[in-house]
Amino acid sequence: MTFRSGRHFLQVPGPTNVPERVLRAMNRPTIDHRGPDFARMATEILKDLQWVFRASGPVFVFPSSATGCWEASLVNTLSPGDKVLTCDQGYFADGWRATAERMGLEVDIVPGDWRCGVDPAAVEDKLAKDTAHEYRALLVVHNETSTGITNPLAAVRQALDNTGHPALLMADAVSSLGSMEYEHDAWGVDVTVAGSQKGLMVPPGLGFNAVSEKALEANRSAGLPRSYWDWQAMRSFNEDGFFPYTPATNLLYGLREAISMLREEGPETVFARHQRFAEATRRAVNEWGLEIYCTDPAKYSSALTAILVPEGSDADSLRAVILDRFDMSLGAGLGRLKGKVFRIGHLGDLNDLMLAGTLCGIEMGLSLAGVPSSRGGVAAALDCLSA
Ligand SMILES: *Cc1c(COP(=O)(O)O)cnc(C)c1O
Repeated sequence: MTFRSGRHFLQVPGPTNVPERVLRAMNRPTIDHRGPDFARMATEILKDLQWVFRASGPVFVFPSSATGCWEASLVNTLSPGDKVLTCDQGYFADGWRATAERMGLEVDIVPGDWRCGVDPAAVEDKLAKDTAHEYRALLVVHNETSTGITNPLAAVRQALDNTGHPALLMADAVSSLGSMEYEHDAWGVDVTVAGSQKGLMVPPGLGFNAVSEKALEANRSAGLPRSYWDWQAMRSFNEDGFFPYTPATNLLYGLREAISMLREEGPETVFARHQRFAEATRRAVNEWGLEIYCTDPAKYSSALTAILVPEGSDADSLRAVILDRFDMSLGAGLGRLKGKVFRIGHLGDLNDLMLAGTLCGIEMGLSLAGVPSSRGGVAAALDCLSA
């Protein structure tokens, strides 16, 4: 490896930059996870998580990636052969759908366009046609990290209510929680799936399921096999501040510190900061003459921006040049978007100058990689940031 001076710029849309405070909080001895100190800490964290998710029901924490918690959401609430409805909205929605299929569920899909995100009217149409109420769950990705689109979850809830459909609403908030408004209770979500390494600013390795009363009810009769992911075991141990198996203790230290940071900055301030960064980024993209992948401005994500490179250019070559020359990692195009888009993560522990540096690296990279584009993006973003 060649020597690199200065700091690496980690501007992928997760994992995000881990704040020094969180790193220091984790740099402590691991304690007995069956002892009283651990129980005190876990009890406090589980309560704080309800504040983060805006949930009055339990939030389960697994030592896992968020992908594991997709599986947890399904095996805890459904039975073999149950029907679920998903939306064709991007790479992560596709992953959750594939998980459901592998678990032995029958999947139906609301057709969609990855560039427009979820259309609540199309969801309502599908639900209305299911007069026998065969769909047991509706799976929606709130912030689709592959496309840079934030979907209107409250309107999706409304589609269920308008049709009187009893399906569970399951939402993936992996890249929205902690960086934009998220309301588990108020939006009537039954299972929220999340992870530690995006808006929550903690290293990868914790997965979450926030669950409603209705989801707990479904859990009692759910017939899919489960062991590691079992909510019931988790719930009974959590009551005393413990876990059924060894938890990721040091990541929990980090999570506790990250939640303190969210409280200190204040969620409204955190969300507004992300919106400013997203706006400044979009001004830069427009000035470069490139196209934002999302075609519906009402759904622009404040956590990341996905950008199309012009026909004839390769987004992966651009990212390789930027990594090589400026030591900055940007998000790749995923699945069918490989080579066509690159993604700028502007979520988590980030300030104006970090964003400015990120955009500088991209502007220089565009010209070094020979991607047809104009200069002036950075200047436009700086105007926005200093306004
Ligand atoms: C990152 C991400 C995932 C997957 O998370 P892992 O921790 O990598 O399993 C799922 N959904 C969305 C929306 C994501 O952004």
